[in-house]
Amino acid sequence: MVKIIDGKQISKEIKDELKAEVAALKTQGKNVALAVIQVGEDPASSVYVNNKKKACEYIGIESLAFHLPETITEEELLQKIEELNQDEKVNGILVQLPLPKHIDEDKVIKTIVPEKDVDGFHPQSVGALSIGQKGFVSCTPAGVIQLLKRSGIEIAGKECVVIGRSNIVGKPMALLLLRENGTVTIAHSKTKDLKEIAKRADILVVAVGKPKMIDSSYIKEGAVVIDVGIHRDENNKLCGDVDYDDVVEHVSAITPVPGGVGPMTIAMLMHNCVSSIK
Ligand code: NAD
Repeated sequence: MVKIIDGKQISKEIKDELKAEVAALKTQGKNVALAVIQVGEDPASSVYVNNKKKACEYIGIESLAFHLPETITEEELLQKIEELNQDEKVNGILVQLPLPKHIDEDKVIKTIVPEKDVDGFHPQSVGALSIGQKGFVSCTPAGVIQLLKRSGIEIAGKECVVIGRSNIVGKPMALLLLRENGTVTIAHSKTKDLKEIAKRADILVVAVGKPKMIDSSYIKEGAVVIDVGIHRDENNKLCGDVDYDDVVEHVSAITPVPGGVGPMTIAMLMHNCVSSIK
């Protein structure tokens, strides 16, 4: 029997736990506040920012929205971040990416103090993860670990293959699986014999950014498949990096798209916000 990993349900569980935690913090007079900065009018960014605001409302986190014009200079944006760094009432700072081309994203990420870096993108947060120290972890890969753990899937000792090596998904994903004592391989666009490597996986995490690229020829019978990708197919239907219909009969567990990894990213962002007060 294939287990369909329900990211919607698991993310709700996490949000409900956080809601109770935030209520308890409030009785101690502690208020969790997240500052969200959006620059310009990118429609996808507006949707993401709005979803984050709704999640904050649900959990009881105060969300402070800063919608800045597309024409803002890099210096003005950095100055705004510095102000929020200094503001004791703000626990977490998030700058919605992508930013307009005239602004250096790396500079922006580095300006947020690591103590408020709830996206987990600051080099110090990434460094801490790689040497097993405390720090914020990038939300999507952290969500994948929660999906596995809360579905009762053991990671320790398993062959884990991550396809993709981006800074926000693939690399932190591999480090987290390693932290959970998986035996980890990272595959990427220059990997030779990708199918052979993918077929070694007990747990295959796909973050390749190519719609339905991974079909059953990449899958070991009975593997667990986690699909991080999000795309629209030729019929405008949401799909992942995995060809779900082709793969589903060969796996022991799989995340659907939508309703798998997607909802976990915001849940883990909320988790990071609540941790930021501790
Ligand atoms: P990216 O484009 O930055 O990275 C893709 C990676 O895949 C690269 O490291 C590249 O080396 C590798 N790759 C590309 N072609 C390959 C090939 N033919 N064979 C092997 N490796 C190949 O993408 P990303 O930001 O890591 O995102 C990956 C996917 O996850 C995208 O579909 C994105 O939309 C999705 N995503 C989802 C969430 C979520 O919340 N669910 C969050 C972030 C990203």
